[in-house]
Amino acid sequence: MKSHTRVVVIGGGVVGASVLYHLARHGWTDVMLLERDELTSGSTWHAAGGMHTVNGDPNVAKLQKYTIELYKEIEELSGQATGVHITGGVLLAATEARMDWLRGVVAKGRYLGLDLEEISAQEAAELMPLLDPKQFVGAVRNSEDGHLDPSGVTHAYAKAARKLGAEVHRFTKVEDIVRREDGMWRVITDKGEAVAEHVVNAGGLWAREVGRMVGLELPVLAMEHMYLITEDMPEVAEWNAKTGSEIIHAIDFDGELYLRQERGGMLMGTYEKAAKPWSEYQTPWNFGHELLEPDIDRIAPSLEVGFRHFPAFQKTGIKQIINGPFTFAPDGNPLVGPVRGLPGFWVACGVMAGFSQGGGVGLALANWMIDGDPGADIWAMDVARYGDWASMPYTNAKVRENYSRRFSIRFPNEELPAGRRLKTTPIYDLLSAKGAQWGVAYGLEVPLWYAPQGARDEFSWRRSTDFEHVANEVQTVRERVGLMEISSFAKYRVTGKGARDWLDRMRACKLPAPGRMALAPMLKEDGKLIGDFTVANLTVDGDLSSSQDWMIFGSGIAEQNHMRWFEKRLPGDGSVNVETWGLSLVGLAIAGPNARKLLGKVMRAEVTNAAFPFMAIRRMDIGMAPCLVGRVSYTGDLGYEVWMAPEYQRHVFETLMAAGEEFGIGLFGSRALNALRLEKNYGSWAREYRPIYGPLEAGLDRFVAYGKEADFVGKAAALAEREQGGKLRLRSFVVDAVDADVIGDEAIWFEGAVRGWVTSGGYAHHSGKSVAMGYVPREIADAETGFEIELLGRRLPARIQATPLFDANFERMRG
Ligand SMILES: Cc1cc2nc3c(=O)[nH]c(=O)nc-3n(C[C@H](O)[C@H](O)[C@H](O)COP(=O)(O)OP(=O)(O)OC[C@H]3O[C@@H](n4cnc5c(N)ncnc54)[C@H](O)[C@@H]3O)c2cc1C
Repeated sequence: MKSHTRVVVIGGGVVGASVLYHLARHGWTDVMLLERDELTSGSTWHAAGGMHTVNGDPNVAKLQKYTIELYKEIEELSGQATGVHITGGVLLAATEARMDWLRGVVAKGRYLGLDLEEISAQEAAELMPLLDPKQFVGAVRNSEDGHLDPSGVTHAYAKAARKLGAEVHRFTKVEDIVRREDGMWRVITDKGEAVAEHVVNAGGLWAREVGRMVGLELPVLAMEHMYLITEDMPEVAEWNAKTGSEIIHAIDFDGELYLRQERGGMLMGTYEKAAKPWSEYQTPWNFGHELLEPDIDRIAPSLEVGFRHFPAFQKTGIKQIINGPFTFAPDGNPLVGPVRGLPGFWVACGVMAGFSQGGGVGLALANWMIDGDPGADIWAMDVARYGDWASMPYTNAKVRENYSRRFSIRFPNEELPAGRRLKTTPIYDLLSAKGAQWGVAYGLEVPLWYAPQGARDEFSWRRSTDFEHVANEVQTVRERVGLMEISSFAKYRVTGKGARDWLDRMRACKLPAPGRMALAPMLKEDGKLIGDFTVANLTVDGDLSSSQDWMIFGSGIAEQNHMRWFEKRLPGDGSVNVETWGLSLVGLAIAGPNARKLLGKVMRAEVTNAAFPFMAIRRMDIGMAPCLVGRVSYTGDLGYEVWMAPEYQRHVFETLMAAGEEFGIGLFGSRALNALRLEKNYGSWAREYRPIYGPLEAGLDRFVAYGKEADFVGKAAALAEREQGGKLRLRSFVVDAVDADVIGDEAIWFEGAVRGWVTSGGYAHHSGKSVAMGYVPREIADAETGFEIELLGRRLPARIQATPLFDANFERMRG
């Protein structure tokens, strides 16, 4: 083992091996992998070896496709067989609701380049002879599914990496990791010590323990997982002889089962409802190549369905049941990337589908380490999507829920019950008493809509029980005045004598004058968006040399992500300080034509348009409470955002509600807000604005100060985008929808071919139109006709809505 190296990768499972390979392939060859035992000694060796391209997040699906296509390359380079069999597969639906979901998967697959096709249950039975077509209502054929040899793949990655110059040291256990004063890492093993610039935690089943070596508590938990292998089956032999090919893969979503051929028999695995965690607090170091005791009673309900859906199983014997543990993050997606506060410490863990995702994880992490950017939209896998609220008990509750729902449908209006009421604001009970139906954002309960007595969400792909109530909330805003809780925004404070200059470099916009706000896109070096904020200048006396005080408001779910970004780019001289307010600052928004009258009634200061214009921000007292009030509203209406310390929130809420009575005040939630912002063509972070789009493409170029003096991050690339025009354009569409609206990720067709994708949408109640936002190539972005959007298996005519449906001249908002 070398005493000095650029990177130590801890863990020789499929993920660590993939990271090592990708680092070496991209030119970092002074890298070594340390494995405490043989390679594959965690969850990798007993995996079922299945691989699939389909994933709920289209960007993760892209990386899964990349992974599957990579196997040929590593096999050739290493000379090691990977045992890859691309058999194709069928995704089966036993209910109409599931079929609706599968249609969405097909539509998504079109722009991802996945070969998916809707077929009947009978056609599915012709492809997969063991299923009983009477048990299903339809299916989707997928040509890219298959399976492989887990050990072969891991060794192929490792051998290929070695050929490129990387080192692999087996039987070398990392016992501690210590940060040196110069920022390098001491990696202390049972075979000696190495100093590394970077450390990657790919510890799989022991990722938590490796994290704890540096004081990090990662939100991962292992679950027991079982699959069975049958005796040889005559039906299998007959099919093999007749067709000369294997029986294809099947995922039976409603049975919560997956199946494939295994030698002369079949393999059937299940994600059972009675999910069972393994080693909840600590993974024993002496666990290795052993299996857990099978518990057939636990999976019996799923097997019963399986034997009914696939009757041939009733006549065969079970040869073996495998029970092994593997890890999950709370939402089932991997945890990848640099860890905030630990420069040079990276994670690649919580990978629950290592053979579908391992290649993509390795690629993204290697890009990130070498180029400073993952090179793909890996938002859904970024370790920074969790904050300290993702505690061990939270993780335990969510992972169990996620496991037991692995193949369950999640409807667009469905909120999941585990890990709830963890973070609430002081008015939670007041809003609940008004009928608030809660969702969750970054661990915080947020009101979605307000249900009159007895009304509840009925889960559906189509417009549901909330429709008329959300419509009423929208009308309250557009006709009178609405109040919304907005504490889920991220709020940052930037102070110090270098604050202005630093912000000028970090933001692509012109910075606002004291007492003013500005919309502020933030770019990466490659000119793509990394954030979309409102920046407020709270500097009181204009003395920029000392008392600078700035606020930044941004997407709540990106708080950890953005703090990591800010901290990495702070000057080393202490002249700038950035802190996140979290819930030590909470908020309420009022919006609608009566909003100004309401504000005027609860405070002494003047609130006329001249005294308090659009994009102004002031400290004001509301009732008796000191607040910060900004004149801005994501509803696109006349409106104000009011910020206060949590101890004042009840008072401010009660004051506004009481004073608002004469103006017809009502509460509105985030579903109404969605309807309101859609008719203004306003995009939002993680939907319209993501790290793969440039500001011109996303329509945010009007907020970019291309000519400003400061050499802001991404300036050269943004200028190049402006000159060359970019490839895509964000557009709003009005869709001829009937009883369902888009939710995101649907395909946009143009003149008979899929040319774009939807980022979000919904019903704009005030305008009475179904709206979709999405990206299309620049060349067709101004076409007046020819668009269709695929929704629930139907192509619906759609037209570009270039100007906002509501208040196109901004008279309401600015007046
Ligand atoms: C029964 C079962 C069936 C499955 N079926 C599938 C499937 O069909 N398809 C699919 O894609 N996935 C499947 N999986 C999941 C798959 O196994 C995992 O996604 C994958 O193994 C994760 O790999 P990893 O490298 O992250 O972790 P691991 O395989 O756990 O590897 C981590 C490695 O790190 C080493 N290590 C840890 N700490 C240290 C240390 N301090 N020093 C040195 N080395 C250390 C360990 O010894 C281990 O070898 C299945 C899992 C199970 C249990």
